[in-house]
Amino acid sequence: MHISAAFDSGNIEIIDTSDPSAVRLAIRKDTNSDFFQWFHFRAVGVRATPCAFRIENAGAASFTRGWEDYRAVASYDRIDWFRVPAQYDGEVLTIRHTPERDAVYYAYFAPYSGERHADAMARYQTSPRIAHAVLGQTLDGADLDLLIVGEPGTGKPVCWTIGRQHPGETQASWWMEGFLDRLSDEADPVARAVLDMAVLYVVANMNPDGSRRGNLRVNAAGANLNREWAEPSMETSPEVYLTRECMRATGVDFCLDVHGDEALPYIFIAGAGGIPSLSDRQVALKKTYDAALMRASPDYQTEKGYPSAPPGKGNLTMCSSHVAEHFGALSMTLEMPFKDNANASDPRHGWSPDRCRRLGAAGLDALLAVVADLRD
Ligand code: ZN
Repeated sequence: MHISAAFDSGNIEIIDTSDPSAVRLAIRKDTNSDFFQWFHFRAVGVRATPCAFRIENAGAASFTRGWEDYRAVASYDRIDWFRVPAQYDGEVLTIRHTPERDAVYYAYFAPYSGERHADAMARYQTSPRIAHAVLGQTLDGADLDLLIVGEPGTGKPVCWTIGRQHPGETQASWWMEGFLDRLSDEADPVARAVLDMAVLYVVANMNPDGSRRGNLRVNAAGANLNREWAEPSMETSPEVYLTRECMRATGVDFCLDVHGDEALPYIFIAGAGGIPSLSDRQVALKKTYDAALMRASPDYQTEKGYPSAPPGKGNLTMCSSHVAEHFGALSMTLEMPFKDNANASDPRHGWSPDRCRRLGAAGLDALLAVVADLRD
C-alpha cells in the first residue's frame, strides 16, 4: 500500500503502512499552530483489501466532539464523495473500508482545490454582471480574489459574503458555487431583483494559503483569521486586513461569513447578538432573514446552534461581530456540518457538496427578503 498527501490540501503523516488492517497514521498540525483536524490523503494498492486506517492522534485534535458519530468521506473519482464508517474510541479514529478500486482518496469533508477555485473565478468573471478584482496578496503570494456582483450605486445596500476563513471548512466553497451560480444566472428572477437593489462583494476563499497547505483553521503565519478582525496586520493576517480595508471603503449593510462546524449535525446561524451596539433593527432583520432561509431551505433551522453571547459580551475579534458593531450591519456566521443534517440525514453522502450548493442558492432567497430594508 502507498499513502500520499503531497498534493493540494493534503494532510497526513505516515507512521506505518505495513499492515492494511492497522494502518498507522497521524494528522499533521496546522502551519505554525497547534490546531489540527483536517485530513486528506490517497491510498493506492488497496483494491478488495479490508483496510483500517488508524489516525492515532485524533484524541488530541482541535474538536474531539467532531469525531463522535462522524463518518469520513471517500472517493475513487474525486467527484462522488461517499461516507465510510469511522469509529472513535476517545483516542484513535479508525476508518474502515474495503475499496473497490486500486486508489481511493479519504478526507475530513469533500475537498475543494485551489484549481477548482481558479476555474470558478474564471467562469464567474465571464458573466456581464460580475467584475473580478484582487484585494492583495497572501503571505504565500496568492491573490486574494474579490468578485463584485452588480453595479455599485449611491444609496444601494452593500452586501458582503465571505468564506473559508477556516480553510478546512470546504463546505463554504461548495456553498459559494450555489450562491454565485444563481447570481450569474440571467434567467433567475431572484438574482435580478437582488441586483436591482444591491451590490454584492464576494470573497469566496479568504484563506487560499491555509487551503492549499491542508490546514484546518489558520493561514501561513498560523493566524486564525476569524479572531483577527479587531486588529489585523499585513504581517500576520493580510487576508483580513485587506478585506476590512475594502469594507471600510465600500461600507457594509449585510455580511454573511460562511463556515463549517465540527461537532453539531445541524445547519445554523450564529448572529451578532452580543455586540455592545446591538439595535432593534439588527434583531428584526435577523428574524426576517431566518424565516426566509427556513422557507427557502428546510435544511436550515434555528433550534440548534451555539448559545448566544450575553449582551455586550460578543467577541469583536470575529468577523460577524466586528462588522455588526462597526457598520451597524446585519452580520451573521453561517455554519454547516461536517457530519450530516440530523433532521434530514443522507446515509450515503451525509452533508455533501450538493447540499452545500443548494443552501448557497437558498441564501439568495433569504437575502431578497431583507435587501430592501438593509438601510434605514
Ligand atoms: Zn469556522
